[in-house]
Amino acid sequence: MEKKRWHTHYPSEIPASVEYDLKPLHSFLENTAERYPEKKALYFMGKELTFSEVHKQAKKMANYMQSLGLRKGDRVAIMLPNCPQAVISYYGALMAGAVVVQTNPLYKERELEYQMNDSGAEFIVCLDILLPTVTNVRGNTPIRHTIVTGIKDYLPFPKNLVYPFIQKKQYNIVVKPEQTEDTHVWHTIMENARESYLPVDIDPQEDLALLQYTGGTTGHPKGVMLTHFNLVANVQMCEAWLYKAEAGKETVLGVLPFFHVYGMTTVMNMSIMNASKMILLPKFDAGEVLKTIQKQKPTLFPGAPTIYVGLLNHPDLKKYDLSSIEACISGSAPLPVEVQEQFEKVTGGRLVEGYGLTESSPVTHANFVWTERVNGSIGVPWPDTDSKIFKMGTMEDAEIGEVGEVAVKGPQVMRGYWNNEEETDNVLKDGWLFTGDMGYMDENGYFYIVDRKKDMIIAGGYNIYPREVEEVLYEHEAVQEAVVAGIPDAYRGETVKAYVVLKSGFNLTEDELNEFCRKHLAAFKVPRIYEFRDELPKTAVGKILRRKLVEEDSKKMQKI
Ligand code: AMP
Repeated sequence: MEKKRWHTHYPSEIPASVEYDLKPLHSFLENTAERYPEKKALYFMGKELTFSEVHKQAKKMANYMQSLGLRKGDRVAIMLPNCPQAVISYYGALMAGAVVVQTNPLYKERELEYQMNDSGAEFIVCLDILLPTVTNVRGNTPIRHTIVTGIKDYLPFPKNLVYPFIQKKQYNIVVKPEQTEDTHVWHTIMENARESYLPVDIDPQEDLALLQYTGGTTGHPKGVMLTHFNLVANVQMCEAWLYKAEAGKETVLGVLPFFHVYGMTTVMNMSIMNASKMILLPKFDAGEVLKTIQKQKPTLFPGAPTIYVGLLNHPDLKKYDLSSIEACISGSAPLPVEVQEQFEKVTGGRLVEGYGLTESSPVTHANFVWTERVNGSIGVPWPDTDSKIFKMGTMEDAEIGEVGEVAVKGPQVMRGYWNNEEETDNVLKDGWLFTGDMGYMDENGYFYIVDRKKDMIIAGGYNIYPREVEEVLYEHEAVQEAVVAGIPDAYRGETVKAYVVLKSGFNLTEDELNEFCRKHLAAFKVPRIYEFRDELPKTAVGKILRRKLVEEDSKKMQKI
């Protein structure tokens, strides 16, 4: 493969091109279980499972699904938080030849119904407390079989006995699913299914492993078609990037949800491939994460900026020893430099920014973890990945430093959107994936994201990138989180509004914050409106939902 200019920065340990395994994604689990059968694969609330146990249970799941009539290419929805069942059912479904459809456990009925109909999933694996939601939509969807499991299924004694009471208190729900023709209970499957299943002939480059829904903030989510090879390639690139991570030696903190492609690739699939022990946390709770780090001593911690911010602002941060952490890659949103520096100080490890999107499995760029890095940049393209900037709305190359649309090309790029040729043609052109992000490249081949195309604010004829204003807000010592958006304005078209969460113990007035912004930003970029809030709405991976705030505002305006 031709050597790209940014590869000249690569440390000698990272190859410009990787030799990929032309194998199905589940071969990772098969290989690791063979090489490290007794090594611990998963840690979940006190319970541990070895690679051999995970593999055996995945085989049982494959056997059981096939016995229910599952055929190659059928879709299996998985609606679970991070727990052993999320890993087992994912690999089991792949072994049986299925295409996995990851489903957010927080989905409401309408969202679930849409996704099941669009994907045509006939199987769903869900948590017991989600059974009422699934049951209510089943009749309007192709779902034929529901596999139900509970958190308690993988808790050690006596936690498994106590947990149902905790669950009742927390969710006010008691579900005792019974085995029927179309509802299948996890522990019954694990007790009765055989470990043999019919091997399925997979063409890794052609056959889909995953339909990953994305883009829900504008219209209906679209199903991104990712092949076995797309995912295998991205995991192998990840392995090449983290060249100091030793097979069989690492412990990875799994707080990013696996139902999002970011956690799925960088935590779940990477750990299974690299024989790392995964610490599974079903949700983000800063106190719980700090405690877990001190006790379980993870070495790798992929996360998102809001996760690192949440930890840094925990009142008891100083009480915990976080020194086991060696490397963190932050993705999904811009990483404020302040946050990066502070987090490195408290852990002594490295925190670098990367970039990607669902349509590319997801990672395409990152900074180097152990050598030079450029703060504020998303780094350089990964091995075998090409990236360039196109002048906005054209197929012409932008100049160095000129802002345009970021495009990527590589083995991790999707086949297209499921049943949606029109949207596919909008983003895949000449083999380039147009990311919808605006950015530029510097003379050294480092890339920078200025903002999403859709989020740019045009106020009084000026283009304003929310991210630039947010960077300034984050520099204020009292600001914990901030997001900036354009809201409709009769005179300027749009006007800049900042939504801010203050750190506990700090007081700040609108005037003081405005004064600070005026010192650091040209007048046209300074927010005209500030709203102090207790928290900001976020996605499951911790991305701040800017659009939701704008929608709330426009609803309020309509009422006036
Ligand atoms: P998703 O498909 O949910 O993974 O979202 C992908 C989007 O997240 C990208 O198109 C970017 O807009 C955003 N994103 C990911 N990483 C970064 C980053 N490091 N800086 C800025 N935006 C990012």
